[in-house]
Amino acid sequence: MEKIKIPKATAKRLPLYYRYLIILNEEGKEKVSSTELSEAVQVDSASIRRDFSYFGALGKRGYGYDVKNLLTFFKKILNQDTLTNVALIGVGNLGRALLNYNFKRSNNIRISCAFDINKKITGRILSGVPVYDMDDLKQQLSDQQISIAILTVPSTAAQRTTDEMVDAGVKGIMNFTPIRLSAPASVRVQNVDLATELQTLIYFLDSDKED
Ligand code: ATP
Repeated sequence: MEKIKIPKATAKRLPLYYRYLIILNEEGKEKVSSTELSEAVQVDSASIRRDFSYFGALGKRGYGYDVKNLLTFFKKILNQDTLTNVALIGVGNLGRALLNYNFKRSNNIRISCAFDINKKITGRILSGVPVYDMDDLKQQLSDQQISIAILTVPSTAAQRTTDEMVDAGVKGIMNFTPIRLSAPASVRVQNVDLATELQTLIYFLDSDKED
């Protein structure tokens, strides 16, 4: 499929649209208006219309969008018709929680291998996922053609592990450590810092109280 160049903000909203369309389709709904979509995904309808315009004429005025068409379209654009294997590095508490999480239910993603340095867990299968020693990283990622990794090692090991991942050909890192990783420009890093997010929420609630 031809790659469509879309703005980053639009790209970020695609999974939101996709998830809601799955629900609509399961409910047997055939049409959806941008206003309905807007309420459900909490994105203003002007942005929705603009987002959808990047994908060509998918909607008709006063008629709404065809749910099945949109779904097929998003499925392709989000690569949902192919299963994406990702690796998990660091099988501690958070790593295990992610191993247990069923990404496959709503997205066609699965963690197909995990890595750790702790000999007590390497060589075992946890939640159906084999845990390899870090020494096997390069070989396994290359054998399984994996280019995306979730990073859940302690902060102290984050940069070192990143260098190892980059060396093993990883092109996308989901970083759960609070460390700002340095990686070549060709590697995309998505930061998910749970503690900071919570702290921000607490900060907002506290400042709401003062208003
Ligand atoms: P717990 O200590 O209970 O396992 P945790 O999530 O608090 O949970 P961390 O110290 O954050 O543990 O470590 C997470 C995991 O990362 C551990 O399983 C640890 O063995 C692993 N780990 C530590 N250093 C590295 C490294 N350099 N490469 C790969 N994995 C590592």
